[in-house]
This record gives sequence, C-alpha cells and structure tokens, in this order.
Amino acid sequence: MSPTLGADVIVIGGGIVGCSTALHIARKGHSVILLERDQAGIRASGVNFGGVRQHGRALAEIPLSFRSRAIWADLASLIGTDGEFTQTGHLRLARKESDINLLQLHLQAVSLYGLELEYLDRADLDRRFPWLGPHIIAGTYCPSDGQANPRLIAPAFAAAARKAGASIIEGAEVTAASHDGGLYRVSTRDGRRFEAPVLVNAAGAWANSVAGWFGESVTLVPEVPQIMVTEPAPYRFQPVLGVIGGDLYFRQIPRGNVIFGGGQGRANAGHTRSRPLPEISAQAAAEAVRIVPEIRHLNIIRTWTGVDGDTIDGSPIVGPSATTPGLFHAFGFCGHGFQLGPGVGAVLAELIVDGRSDTDIHGLGIARFDGGR
Ligand SMILES: Cc1cc2nc3c(=O)[nH]c(=O)nc-3n(C[C@H](O)[C@H](O)[C@H](O)COP(=O)(O)OP(=O)(O)OC[C@H]3O[C@@H](n4cnc5c(N)ncnc54)[C@H](O)[C@@H]3O)c2cc1C
Repeated sequence: MSPTLGADVIVIGGGIVGCSTALHIARKGHSVILLERDQAGIRASGVNFGGVRQHGRALAEIPLSFRSRAIWADLASLIGTDGEFTQTGHLRLARKESDINLLQLHLQAVSLYGLELEYLDRADLDRRFPWLGPHIIAGTYCPSDGQANPRLIAPAFAAAARKAGASIIEGAEVTAASHDGGLYRVSTRDGRRFEAPVLVNAAGAWANSVAGWFGESVTLVPEVPQIMVTEPAPYRFQPVLGVIGGDLYFRQIPRGNVIFGGGQGRANAGHTRSRPLPEISAQAAAEAVRIVPEIRHLNIIRTWTGVDGDTIDGSPIVGPSATTPGLFHAFGFCGHGFQLGPGVGAVLAELIVDGRSDTDIHGLGIARFDGGR
C-alpha cells in the first residue's frame, strides 16, 4: 500500500474554483493537495461561454462577483496570462414590456451595491448598437463586464498553483472522504490515500456526492448549456449580449468568430459526457439571428456542451460546511461560476487560513437549503 500523503488542505476538483483555491492557499504559505479526476480545467471551466459579467446576478453574489472582477483586472500578475480577458461591456436585453420592469428593478437594486449600469431605451440602442434586431426594446449596459477565453484560464490557474507549491494530482478520482474529528481522510479510486485537517469540495456538477458524505446533500440539478461558434466575420459586435430569461447569450471575439449559446444539450447518467442536440442549435441560431440579424449568413463551424450544477435558488454554495468543521464547499455555480472562480478561491483561502474574509458571502452558505430541501 502506498504511504498516505498529508497537507494542510485537500481540494477535490480541478476546475477554476478548485485551482484558484489551491493557488491562493499556496500563496499564503500553506501546503495543499488538489485531486482532480480527469485533467485540470477540462470540465465546465474549460468549455464555458466565456462571459465575465457582474450584471444580472442575484444580490447575494454581488460582493463575491466584485471581488472576482478585481482579480480579473490584473489576472496576468496572478496566473501569468490575461486569458484574453477584455473589458467589452455586457448588454442585457429586453424583448417584451415585462422585461423592462425586470431590467429597471435590477438596475436599482445593484446600484445600492455600487454596480453601475446604464439604462438604454430603443433610441439609445439604435445610436450605440445599431445592429440589434427590431424586437429588442431596451437594455441595461454594464461597462465593467467583459469576456475571456475559458480554454486558457483554468489550466493557467492550475499551472500557477503548481508554481506556487501546490500539488496538483490529475487522474485522481476521490471515491471516499471522512472526518475523524481531527483529520479528513480521503481515498481515490486507485487506492491512494491523503489526509489533511481541511477539505475543500470544489467538485463542480459532481460536488453533491462529496457533500453527501458529510450529511449535507442538497438538490443539485445538472445543467448542460449548449454553445456554438461561427466562422469569422469582420469584428463589429463588442459587448457580450444576454437576454432577460437567459435563453440566449452572444459575443464576438476580435478574430471574428461569433460565439453564442442557448438551450440545453444532453448528458449521460453520470454527467461525465454530454453532447449538443441539433434541434437546440437550430433554435439558438434562430434567436441569435433575431437579436443580431447581420449574422444570418454565417456558418456554424462547431458546437459543444459542458455540465454545471444548478441549485434550487440559482446561486452557488460557497463557504463552510454546516455539519463538519474544516470542510468548505464551493459548488452549484448555476452556469455562471467562471466569472466568480478567481474570487471564490481568494475568499476560501482567507476563510481557511485567516479565519475570516472581508468579502460578504453570508447569503451563499449551504445551511440556507436546510439539509437539501
Ligand atoms: C457550456 C457552459 C457555459 C457556461 N458559460 C459561462 C459563462 O459564460 N460565464 C460564467 O461565469 N460561467 C459560465 N458557465 C459556468 C462555469 O463554467 C462554471 O460555473 C464553473 O466553471 C464552475 O467551476 P468549477 O471549478 O466549480 O467546476 P468544473 O470546471 O466542472 O470543475 C470541477 C472538477 O471537479 C472534478 N471532480 C468531480 N468529482 C471529482 C472527484 N470525485 N474526484 C476528483 N475530481 C472530481 C471534475 O473532473 C472537474 O474537473 C458555463 C458552464 C457551461 C457548462
């Protein structure tokens, strides 16, 4: 039997959330082992749409989203690349009168937190974004939002964590973890054993199994967003677009490709494999063309999916366990954890190492689900 490896902290899951947590813990001078079933960054974190927005979030997420946004602003100094992060703004669009009320309510609510949004009526939209389709009636614009290349970011977090001294072990599927009062004992499918006084559950769409080992399973529904990319066209559409209802999101990169998403693909029973559905591509493409008619002649060159976990209130679970000391959860990111990932790692590292964080995450605790109900 191989010897048990020990560290100050064990992280389960090598997506952006786990890798960011490992990096921040290592930077604080503590030893950390991250166990990843596959390869770091190849799941949701590596295949997502690439939207980096504070706009449109639940209020409980706003302080964490701000914290993250500050890290995005200087990502290169942390992980050695900016991951093509560009502050292009984010435009959230109304397609019917009732959407306008939602835009205005959100604008008022987030302004209390200091997030600046501009309300744009159709005349404003015509002046600023004349390429929008006629059924768009208003929007709110968040100038500080942007976009990035997900394929670069999570692997770069993993590489930076390694460089800072974290042990990132890939091909290590955690199949059991328990707490004996002092230490977490963790074992992998291939029989390796690890122990630490602190355990971080960052296992993405699969994290509910880990929570269940500690008696705090919650309702977590797999989400399988479907993304498409077109052939390149002249670069013209700068802001990331979203709509009230969330059924379409859209961005163009300077190379010219238009990336858009909408609808859900299909995953297997274990959610370890997922695939796009042609009828969803057709639906999403039709709505994308309604929103930006100029793209109607572009060919779609690729389509893909990934899997994230949805909680029942649409916000993630971030913070200490309600049952077991030294256990921290960070999962259930409901299709919008890419923007949050850098901040989640920073905040968890503070909670673990310093015992406190100035970033308010009190609305994101697992206890709000009352044992999963
Ligand atoms: C198609 C798609 C589009 C999206 N678009 C956006 C967007 O535009 N903007 C945005 O902010 N967010 C977006 N998201 C959401 C975002 O990608 C996720 O919320 C975020 O990446 C979650 O990061 P994570 O580290 O928690 O999860 P993951 O990246 O899924 O990482 C979890 C890791 O845990 C590992 N793991 C699981 N179980 C075990 C185990 N037992 N042992 C060891 N390892 C294990 C997995 O292999 C995986 O690598 C999108 C998601 C998808 C799928």
